[in-house]
Amino acid sequence: MTDKGLLFVISGPAGTGKGTVVKHLLETGEFFFSVSATTRSPRPGEVHGVNYYFITKEEFEQKIAAGEMLEYAEYVGNYYGTPKSAVEEALAAGKNVILEIETQGALQIREIMPEAVLILILAPDIETLEARLVGRGTESADVVAKRMAQARREVTLINKYDYVVINEDGKSEEAAKDILGIARSEKMRAFRNIGLKKNFI
Ligand code: 5GP
Repeated sequence: MTDKGLLFVISGPAGTGKGTVVKHLLETGEFFFSVSATTRSPRPGEVHGVNYYFITKEEFEQKIAAGEMLEYAEYVGNYYGTPKSAVEEALAAGKNVILEIETQGALQIREIMPEAVLILILAPDIETLEARLVGRGTESADVVAKRMAQARREVTLINKYDYVVINEDGKSEEAAKDILGIARSEKMRAFRNIGLKKNFI
């Protein structure tokens, strides 16, 4: 099967638990995680260079101008973006790369890298989403309300994605297994394995 690295774009509204699902995926050792840059402040426990590169708005805008962002978006008042070089190097080295990004960024990736695999993680319903977001307790009521509005908009883009995975309460490992299954199937897609023909000549 193809040993080329594949790009997996994982999106999901705030409160879907996609961070936990991605954590399980990274524990398999099968994926390289692209650390994004953001202008939002770190939450307690978040580490610069691990969860995000926390940079200023000016630094972010310089990187956009220098063409250093593969994609970027403004989300609830802050910039978020994927540094281009790390992703390109990992793919060139044959690694499977995960971008955990919101929908505007995912659609940009669809345009520039059509061979990427787009996966949308959802909670079972909007009530579960809100309960998880409020329960996390990391955002003010105002930010929760904005993120809920954003979540409703994001779900309307479901048809732009290749796969949908539902993260049921307490079943994030199952959701991660679903994504591992997707990743393995994608590796076996015929169009990614055209090179096998030469073994049969
Ligand atoms: P949070 O502030 O909760 O960490 O992230 C807010 C949203 O930004 C999430 O939907 C997350 O997936 C998204 N995000 C994180 N990094 C990036 C990025 O590099 N690009 C884009 N477009 N979205 C990102």
